[in-house]
Amino acid sequence: MDIKFHNPDLSSAKIMMIDDEPINMEIVQALLEDAGYSNFIVEDQPLRAMETLNNTHPDMLILDLMMPGKDGFQLLKEIRSHERYEHLPVIILTSANDNDSKLRVLELGATDLLFKPVDPTELILRVYNTLSSKSYLDQLAYYDAVTHLPNSRMFQEHFEWVLKKSHRHEDRLAILNISLDDFSRINAAMGHKEGDSILRQTAELIQQVVRDSDVLACVGRGANRNANLYRSENGAFMLLLERIQRPEDAALVAERILDAIKQPLIAADTEVYLTCSIGIVTHPEEGNDPNTLVRLVNTARDYVKTNGGNAFQFSSSVIDMSYRNRLDMESRLRKALEREEFKLYYQPKVDLSSGRICGAEALLRWFNGDQGMISPLEFIPIAEETGLIIPIGKWVLETTCDQLKRWSSLGNNNFQLSANVSARQFQEPNFVTDLERIIASRSINPKTLTLELTESLLMQDIEQNIKLMSMLKAMGLKLSIDDFGTGYSSLAYLKTLPVDELKIDRSFIIDVPQKEDSCAIVSTIIYLARKLGFHTVAEGIETSEQFEFLRREQCEQFQGYYFSKPVPASDFTELLLSERKVTAQDDHENNNE
Ligand code: C2E
Ligand code: MG
Ligand code: MG
Repeated sequence: MDIKFHNPDLSSAKIMMIDDEPINMEIVQALLEDAGYSNFIVEDQPLRAMETLNNTHPDMLILDLMMPGKDGFQLLKEIRSHERYEHLPVIILTSANDNDSKLRVLELGATDLLFKPVDPTELILRVYNTLSSKSYLDQLAYYDAVTHLPNSRMFQEHFEWVLKKSHRHEDRLAILNISLDDFSRINAAMGHKEGDSILRQTAELIQQVVRDSDVLACVGRGANRNANLYRSENGAFMLLLERIQRPEDAALVAERILDAIKQPLIAADTEVYLTCSIGIVTHPEEGNDPNTLVRLVNTARDYVKTNGGNAFQFSSSVIDMSYRNRLDMESRLRKALEREEFKLYYQPKVDLSSGRICGAEALLRWFNGDQGMISPLEFIPIAEETGLIIPIGKWVLETTCDQLKRWSSLGNNNFQLSANVSARQFQEPNFVTDLERIIASRSINPKTLTLELTESLLMQDIEQNIKLMSMLKAMGLKLSIDDFGTGYSSLAYLKTLPVDELKIDRSFIIDVPQKEDSCAIVSTIIYLARKLGFHTVAEGIETSEQFEFLRREQCEQFQGYYFSKPVPASDFTELLLSERKVTAQDDHENNNE
């Protein structure tokens, strides 16, 4: 009997049979083949049945009851308790015709019941009805038969909903379209069965990457992290990453997937080497409309494919460029230390009472080949993210201390040198001991070294930071809060911080003395600092008006282009020496008067 399939997918449904008598399965298979079905899995070892089920993912099961080792009741119970097979249609085919057995299998969740010897028409009808049943159709409609992943239709529905949610909460999300390169060639060369197996292995590899805790860390935070994989068209997958922090996080996931897919897969007992092309689109950067976003991500993926595959590409060229620049800078930054491309420049600090240079701030400069000098504002954030700030920061402290040693021999005992310390460096477990060693090995006076910590750094984990700062103070070091006024520090904490100095941020100095509110802020900071026993440094002074205002307000130290830009060590030595000459001359004239 050849049945007309209203739903063409039913004829390709995968039907698994478990029976200890192979002849029974042969009969059933022959009957169903006559009816147009073509996809069968037979298992005559009940003890191996679960394993076969897990490896083959059938669409329905025909199960015998009386079997040695493990009977049909036991198997049915196991199947139903497995999350994945909760809704798998199971027809029991048995010679046990007693009422007890019938009731028991129905209780255990059998979908239908047939008796041996099986009536051909009844078998075909029941199988057809079972496969047509809603749960199976839902499965067909929303899940991919090969990978068992949710399919494009599910993606569409889910994506619209997630997009609305992200829009409402102002979250960022990314979609990755991941497509195996040359998949149609594999399918043609190895056949669909092996092609399907490759798709399943690929899906598993992608899911492993997404489960990796490193990757999860950048896919949203805490309980809200969410990464869902869908099967898209031929050889392609859609990965939806919710609540990512930055577009680069999506790139990191893409990089990991590219790496994972390069591992050899096994198909037809041979190793197959594959690559993939990945398009990335992010919301809200590239829009709110689901259709537009899907179109953009497909175009980005196609762009990668036509350019040789095995890479990823953001749909937006702006994001793509900035990410690539970042990646490029990161790889150059990794080599910068050993290539000795860093230098410290020194900017003088001038003292109110003497009007002379009382110290300097060491500022990092990177001279990178053709690019010339790169600003710390550009590379410090990357060094922090990648952890490169640890060795770089250590180099800064070593070089600062070397220089301090040289300048202290010029005879000015009160000369202070400041170094900037970044958050990640400060919180590194060996920071304090490393610093102790650096200071001891150069036998410099720790009182002449100041560490500048930004206000936002200090407020991150205030209790822990106060402990660390107290240890540094106990070593004799001076501590300064950099960029003060920008980091929302609470007054309650400010008075407990073991610091010596507040550096008023340049953004306030710029508007002094023209803008009244900036003047008020600066005066208040100076007043507050005096009351709390800190001294104040104003940074970024460029004009005589700014200098006059700060002098009137009794700010104690000044730093800015008005006095000098940051200069190399040799130029700074000249500055110090010429000032000594002037001082000596002044003293000489004063003595003669
Ligand atoms: P910062 O510590 O607040 O340093 C002051 C910045 O203001 C320096 O920029 C300095 O060149 C600039 N500046 C000083 N006077 C003036 C002025 O009158 N006008 C203007 N427009 N700018 C002035 P620079 O050297 O580009 O450094 C920027 C930031 O990079 C620093 O801000 C600091 O946060 C960071 N940085 C620099 N060197 C290091 C370092 O060795 N380690 C760490 N962790 N961060 C560093
Ligand atoms: Mg500073
Ligand atoms: Mg500053």
